[in-house]
Amino acid sequence: MKMLVTGGAGFIGSHVAETLANEDHEVVVLDDLSGGFTENVPKKVTFVQGSVTDYEFVKKLFERYRFDYVYHLAAYAAEGLSFFIKRFNYENNLIGSVNLINASVNYGVKCFVFASSIAVYGNPKPPFVEELTPHPEDPYGISKYAVELDLHVSKMMWDLNYIIFRAHNVFGEHQNIGDKYRNVIGIFINQIMQGKKFTIFGDGEQKRAFSYISDVAPVIARSVFEPKAFNQVFNIGADKEYSVNALAKTVLKVMNSNNEIQYLPVRKEVVNAFSSHEKVKRVFGYEPKVDLEEGIRRMAAWAKKVGAKKGKEFSNIEVARNLPESWR
Ligand code: NAD
Repeated sequence: MKMLVTGGAGFIGSHVAETLANEDHEVVVLDDLSGGFTENVPKKVTFVQGSVTDYEFVKKLFERYRFDYVYHLAAYAAEGLSFFIKRFNYENNLIGSVNLINASVNYGVKCFVFASSIAVYGNPKPPFVEELTPHPEDPYGISKYAVELDLHVSKMMWDLNYIIFRAHNVFGEHQNIGDKYRNVIGIFINQIMQGKKFTIFGDGEQKRAFSYISDVAPVIARSVFEPKAFNQVFNIGADKEYSVNALAKTVLKVMNSNNEIQYLPVRKEVVNAFSSHEKVKRVFGYEPKVDLEEGIRRMAAWAKKVGAKKGKEFSNIEVARNLPESWR
């Protein structure tokens, strides 16, 4: 089968592309390298550098390759920063997605797999279930939910099949540990390797469930071969929630470090965000296998090999008011 994986030079996308390539599909990775790295792209795939926001380019790509399936993972996923870069967020994450959906309709794609996020839920009482009506509380979550809705109407209007995965706090090898705006486990590991204190927004008692990459990417990759999954939404990831303080302790233990924690002023974020995975278990026989400590152990071994990463500042802040001091 011919597969397009957008964002395949990034973290989750590179693992999805690898699973597909290892199962002998013809895979094209599209990535603009704004947040990804060519080293992440699996060897057996065709790499095309370009942006999903460039519609003429997207059309030519679909014309040339005639994809059977599209896996859309390209996005700028810095959720907390998205308040301050709204135009960029909607252009990249929403309009870029619509470009791919249009091309998928026009070129007869069999199913469009979309990496959505737990961010669509907003702030209900966890664990979040798929039946809840989403009320996203930040522009990143709004863009993800808008794409979900666009997929629903594209199914109604043109019979484009979709599968939506709402992932949360995925971590592991290939993650950009230099991104200071997102991925707390990567940030902690990078801080230890750079001899810097851990930084935590607020009191560290906010709760998340952290999902190891091998418990997420293969399910996304193989989903199109499960007809029961078509036109459905799935939460995916680990069940057990941890406070960010408990997470910090686990990273310290695994990395044999006594790093100190610097608590920063609280930022605007959902306090407790984790979800139920009954549906993905039912449809895919899904069972997360790697617990937090083991996942961090594997990620830390990889991170030590590749070394600490210096992060890039996001240069085009659109609204600086209320931007956390540490992001200036
Ligand atoms: P990532 O930043 O590692 O990967 C995203 C990739 O998309 C990068 O390689 C980047 O260069 C590329 N990209 C960004 N904008 C692009 C554009 N306009 N055109 C082409 N390529 C572009 O992020 P990730 O953690 O692997 O996330 C992958 C997807 O999963 C994203 O859509 C994200 O919103 C979603 N997601 C991630 C998590 C998580 O915990 N990592 C949780 C929920 C949802």
